[in-house]
Amino acid sequence: MATRRQTFRLYPSKAQEKALFEARRLHCYLYNACVSHRETEYKLHRRTVTYLEQQNLLPEFKQVWVEFAQLNSQALQATVKRADYAYQRFFRGLSRKPRFKSIRRYSGWTYPARSGWKVNSTGKHGTVTLNDLGITLKMRGQAKHWGVPTTLTLVYKPSRRQWFASFTVEVAIPEPKFGSQSDLRYESIVAYDLGTETALTLFDGAEFREITNPRFTQRSEEKIRRVARLKRRKRAPKKGVKASRRWKKIHRREAQLQAKQAKAARQRRDWQHKVTSEIACRYDVGVTEKLHVKGMTRKGGKRKAGLNKSILSVGFGTLNQMITYKIEQKGGLVLMFPTQTLKPSQRCPKCGAVHKEWADLSNRYHVCSACGFEVPRDRGSVMVMYNVATNRQPGLGTSLVSLGCFSSTSKSCGAMKHLGQRKRQKLHRQANGASETPSAYAVG
Ligand SMILES: [Zn+2]
Repeated sequence: MATRRQTFRLYPSKAQEKALFEARRLHCYLYNACVSHRETEYKLHRRTVTYLEQQNLLPEFKQVWVEFAQLNSQALQATVKRADYAYQRFFRGLSRKPRFKSIRRYSGWTYPARSGWKVNSTGKHGTVTLNDLGITLKMRGQAKHWGVPTTLTLVYKPSRRQWFASFTVEVAIPEPKFGSQSDLRYESIVAYDLGTETALTLFDGAEFREITNPRFTQRSEEKIRRVARLKRRKRAPKKGVKASRRWKKIHRREAQLQAKQAKAARQRRDWQHKVTSEIACRYDVGVTEKLHVKGMTRKGGKRKAGLNKSILSVGFGTLNQMITYKIEQKGGLVLMFPTQTLKPSQRCPKCGAVHKEWADLSNRYHVCSACGFEVPRDRGSVMVMYNVATNRQPGLGTSLVSLGCFSSTSKSCGAMKHLGQRKRQKLHRQANGASETPSAYAVG
């Protein structure tokens, strides 16, 4: 079983919208109350309030603020939990100190369990009933994967003035095709590498493909920062003070730029889905390097800031994640090779020699000093990964497990062991029969 998120747009009536707004306002109020409670406790007693403490205070709170009594108590707990999450992130240095949220910045609330609401849908359109508000809302949309919905989050998007119902759904994942008896089809293996300029380099044994990364957002970000800086110098509206004409003008400009950026983000997402769907559609097995994007982006300080920025804007993690879940969804497998043992970008795909000097990123075109093989850097490393997965790589051990490779589904699942066995069988056959490339299996 896997969990997927599925979102539907809601179509509330006027009265329903009012009820939704009221509930959202109350949840926002509770959130702020939690933040305030933590603030004052810390200021007065230097004490950190825990989630459990606040949760246990809820019944008392409801006695004083009776309007909260009608709301689902688990949903209220979830809101308390939201405040707790915000503080946990703050304590770990991941975000700034939680602040009070205005209703405009407060998106909605969550029903964290199956009770208190009911959805009536087959995955396409339908209705959802919120017991605490006593309303049944029409919803439209189509879920890609549908199953048993387990949690529900209601979200309001102020910029679009629209409500959404976001479910987490338990979806059955098909058994991996390569688990037990069925065979691993080598023709449907693809090795891929994520990069910055070339977002993806693919090799499926027959042909290479390079997918360039469309730059959707890069420039606009800088522009927005500049405009925001200018805006801060103009007279903003306050109580009793009108905004200056210049402020209004620049405010409009900023809004335009932000809309543009939001559009770019949507375009990028769309592009990512298209690219990854196509790959997951064509291949059953994906092979790639195990990436440490976070480490990559933190190191290097200012000097590498530009590179880091562009890495982040491609959304490395996202592309990889999308390919992985899409391939798994149809019963396929994604294998991740550890870069350290494999060194795909330093290894010659033909003879297996490792060239230290290839590690230098500026070295875009590789010529092997041992065998004379020539290959562009990115293509070379996907070739190595493909060769290893299909047992054609010279200079490496035979067992994928011994290489420290693991599948995306679990650290060492049956499918992985099976793949190792397949490799050994093939090796055995090759050794007995007439081997085409005996050198390939000399080591291991
Ligand atoms: Zn070579």
